[in-house]
Amino acid sequence: MNSSDQLTSNENFLEQIINEDLSNGFNKRKLKFRFPPEPNGYLHIGHAKSICLNFGFGKTFSSPVNLRFDDTNPEKENIVFINSIKEDIKWLGFKWDSECYASDYFNELYDWAIYLIKNNNAYVDSQDQETISIQRGVPSSAGELSPYRERTVDENLDLFKKMKEGNFMPGDCVLRAKIDMSSPNMHMRDPVLYRIINHEHHRTKDKWKIYPTYDWAHGQSDYIEGISHSLCTLEFQVHRELYDWLISKIPKQKEILPKQREFARLNLSYTIMSKRKLAEIVNSGLVSGWDDPRMPTISGLRRRGVPPQAIINFCDKVGVAKRENIIDYALLDFCTREVLNKISYRVMVVLDPVELEIINYPEGDSETLTAENNQEDETYGSREISFSKNLFIERDDFKEQANRKYFRLTIGKEVRLKNGYIIKGESIEKDSEGNINKIVCTYDPKSKSGSGTPESLRKVKGTIHWVDKNNYENISVNIFDKLFLSEVPDENNEADIKKLINRESIKNYNTACAEISLKDADFNKYYQFQRKGYFKLDKKNPEIIFNQTVTLRDNIKF
Ligand code: ATP
Ligand code: MG
Repeated sequence: MNSSDQLTSNENFLEQIINEDLSNGFNKRKLKFRFPPEPNGYLHIGHAKSICLNFGFGKTFSSPVNLRFDDTNPEKENIVFINSIKEDIKWLGFKWDSECYASDYFNELYDWAIYLIKNNNAYVDSQDQETISIQRGVPSSAGELSPYRERTVDENLDLFKKMKEGNFMPGDCVLRAKIDMSSPNMHMRDPVLYRIINHEHHRTKDKWKIYPTYDWAHGQSDYIEGISHSLCTLEFQVHRELYDWLISKIPKQKEILPKQREFARLNLSYTIMSKRKLAEIVNSGLVSGWDDPRMPTISGLRRRGVPPQAIINFCDKVGVAKRENIIDYALLDFCTREVLNKISYRVMVVLDPVELEIINYPEGDSETLTAENNQEDETYGSREISFSKNLFIERDDFKEQANRKYFRLTIGKEVRLKNGYIIKGESIEKDSEGNINKIVCTYDPKSKSGSGTPESLRKVKGTIHWVDKNNYENISVNIFDKLFLSEVPDENNEADIKKLINRESIKNYNTACAEISLKDADFNKYYQFQRKGYFKLDKKNPEIIFNQTVTLRDNIKF
């Protein structure tokens, strides 16, 4: 039996590692996790997986989880991203214990760098980045030693202080750890710990001219915060040796040393997860911003109407793997539908209206019909919708020439109006160009839904939605298709991001007609436009705009 066979259904391999640590005597109260975003973009659905994992462990083990901004590159980071990240995590429903910043530790990191230099574990290299990477060589043979590798401690201390004080230009020199230029692990070949960046930092302003690299900042931040399990994605597996080496070389006061453990990142079909590429899409103007409803960002999904619980359920279903794979986008849609089916308010909206007249309905009359708001949950109550002689129905719910398998409206056949009466197609009127501009019907006055009459129970094959032409609200509706053209958009590392984008990924219906109740549409509610899908209110002023979240059905079952 291998170790994965022993997992309980809900226990993933990381949880198993933690449980093993606990059974080997690790104090449960010392468990601590963190979510460490770099504030250089908005969070995407991949980050949601890491959030659910870390905060999920926080819940499972009743342990603190820090939100730590890995703000070590001031050229790309800013406060707008910090705020959006906080908002997204809160919206997902998670609470962090402390809000931390790698920049809070710049003093300590600097002191420890001095300590490394004094112990002959770091040196200032005065070569440029390109030369350094050429010297690093290839894993199969030893790299070349830097001519500056044997500088004296005093010389290194002097140069490092000068780097800090701004006496050099970016690229003039770097601080490198002195490890092993022949290690098969390239990350152990004297990695860079500090580089000079002439850029104001959003928090430390112009105090620093040198900034720690990811490798130098990350593990030490974990150590300072007392993180017990530092969970990251697989690409950092090769950094683990360096992570442990650096922690072993700093002055130690603490009993708990953080452990880095890696899991497979989430890849989703038809989606790009690199923040750098997402930023390019935003900057190209092909989307309206990071929160464009087509974007795979958490804010985009929120604006599109995906509820937080759907994202959490999705991350749960995806699970935590040790090997990378690509998850079908349809699984996210499935999770979205599953939640929305339970919580959405049902309403009727006609996206592409054509008029329908009921000739045997009294001229000038109207009545109110009662409709359930959510047949899945009666606590949602019911609402009144108005009905009269003139309605709108969906243009494609009528066919002039229909075969026997067509169950929507046609001449001579009956359909039920959702929440209302049975009608029968009688004739059509066309404009001078041959387009249908009115469908004329008769109705069965005894067939009202819910009235209890035998006629009301009469089964007809088709049901269509409608809106009262004498009492409706004009709304604008956005329908979306996939933002990316191919299933694995960055498979060939296409440099021109514009070539990856589906230019037809948004369609707007600006003459949609909604039942009057949507005049009071609520930003906090989720809606189902009956027979059309799930929709979310996007704007109310000056016009009411809805975004389609997802269609009602998909063929794939999970
Ligand atoms: P990107 O490549 O999108 O810029 P990143 O890894 O540089 O992502 P960070 O802000 O550094 O972004 O990520 C914060 C945390 O989220 C890290 O622990 C990272 O491993 C995790 N993470 C990022 N992308 C994914 C993903 N697709 N699936 C799971 N976890 C992810
Ligand atoms: Mg990163």
